[in-house]
Amino acid sequence: MAQNGAAEIENCQVLVIGGGPAGSTVATLLSRRGIRVTLLEREHFPRYHIGESLSISCFRAMEVLGVRDKVESHGFTRKEGSYYAWGEEEWDLPFSHLPGEDNHSWQVIRSEFDQILLDHARSEGVRVHEGVNVSQVHFENGRAVAASWTRRGEENASGRVHFDVVVDASGRNGVLASRQLSSRKFHDVFRNLAVWGYWEGTPELNLGPTGAIAVFSRENGWLWAIPLHDGTLSIGLVTGKDEYKADYDRLGGRQAVYLDAIASCSQLADLTKPGKLVSEVKSETDYSYVADEFSGPGYFLIGDAACFLDPLLSTGVHLATFSGMLAAATISSMLSGELPEQECRDFFQTAYRQAYERLLLLVSVFYESYRGSESHFYQAQALTREDRKGLRLHDAFLNIVAGTEDLVDVTTEGAYQALAAKLRGEDGGSPAPIANHNTFKEKLPESPDLALAGIYLTLQPELGLRRVERARD
Ligand code: FAD
Repeated sequence: MAQNGAAEIENCQVLVIGGGPAGSTVATLLSRRGIRVTLLEREHFPRYHIGESLSISCFRAMEVLGVRDKVESHGFTRKEGSYYAWGEEEWDLPFSHLPGEDNHSWQVIRSEFDQILLDHARSEGVRVHEGVNVSQVHFENGRAVAASWTRRGEENASGRVHFDVVVDASGRNGVLASRQLSSRKFHDVFRNLAVWGYWEGTPELNLGPTGAIAVFSRENGWLWAIPLHDGTLSIGLVTGKDEYKADYDRLGGRQAVYLDAIASCSQLADLTKPGKLVSEVKSETDYSYVADEFSGPGYFLIGDAACFLDPLLSTGVHLATFSGMLAAATISSMLSGELPEQECRDFFQTAYRQAYERLLLLVSVFYESYRGSESHFYQAQALTREDRKGLRLHDAFLNIVAGTEDLVDVTTEGAYQALAAKLRGEDGGSPAPIANHNTFKEKLPESPDLALAGIYLTLQPELGLRRVERARD
């Protein structure tokens, strides 16, 4: 019901809060199954967003959404891998080494990429309202049933929308976990901060595979360089919060810290010498966090609204679209009554948390593989005992790399050390294998042998969840 003459927002079966990659993904897939979906996005698109380097797994997500051709024809930089100058090591990580054909992804200007996904959702029947902020989700007898909204720029234009299920895809803002339920927990590790800007007139990056992201470690953090299709180069610094504060005080401001970091990296100093910084220098804390629960009666959290991971391995958009696909299959089966709600929610929570924990572990071990000096920054990126508590580390180990089955029988603590050594090649295995794991290709639990608690996901002939027994019928 709308108040003060505001245009009504229709009640729906599924309300999606937020039109980033996570929200557009879940909305598109549900709408395609004939479910009435309304999506409320507080900004008017195109809107700026950080997160430009897409991992290889995003390619599959674009195919599932049916939007791959639109993304491909937009002209984004084709990304064929990554380049890491990491401590004393230098790695070219081409996607072509992975199984499958036409392995690539894109470096995207997020305002344009997110707009393509949101327009695609609209074209698939999702009722999208931009400039509408969700202020609160209302619960009745413990179940989410409605949400309050306000239309931005229209004074007092507000109302309430009712739904069967709400999906919180509101990103770091976190309408449910951060603002209402206070269930967001920050990790002790990865308490970092990023500063970045855009450059024009720089020579071609030319490091690693075509269109690669280049990452350069430094004593107190690391730098990224991402070639974008409008000819600009995105350059960013990730550093610890203590290191940033010390540099900020010493050098006299954010831009000074940023430029000093670039000057200290010989490759980036050379690249930027003929170029010009053409944007303000932006900054964001990128502390990693995770919500206690990813789902509850009548609600789901996806993408950054559920959890966030340090950007070292460019995993954010992958996790957003991955959890969007999982949530769509889960909600679809739940609403059609194919499986009981509790089982559906358990499946979603287990599958998404497992994917997140796997990458959390991988990022931490990747940091640990840095073999420079005994830098405080790198030591601070190792998962602490506290961080590891509650993680299903054995599952994560088993899923990261084939051949880690030998770790099953050791204790969690021992397994962590053993995996780290294995990935660093210190177990007598092939050297520097950690480099290979950067190009992770996350698998949806899409077949009976990948089932979680006897349930797996299907995309064909219909999106949904199935019990393993049914597959044998
Ligand atoms: P978002 O993209 O944040 O979308 C959420 C949407 O919800 C927004 O459009 C917002 O306006 C809307 N919203 C918020 N509150 C409300 C509300 N109350 N009502 C209605 N709408 C609302 N990821 C990568 O894959 N590659 C990278 O290279 C990368 N680099 C990064 C670098 C840094 C420094 C940081 C901090 C992150 C980086 N990420 C990267 C992560 C990536 O930005 C996010 O993981 C990704 O955008 C998450 O998508 P999402 O859809 O969950 O959230």
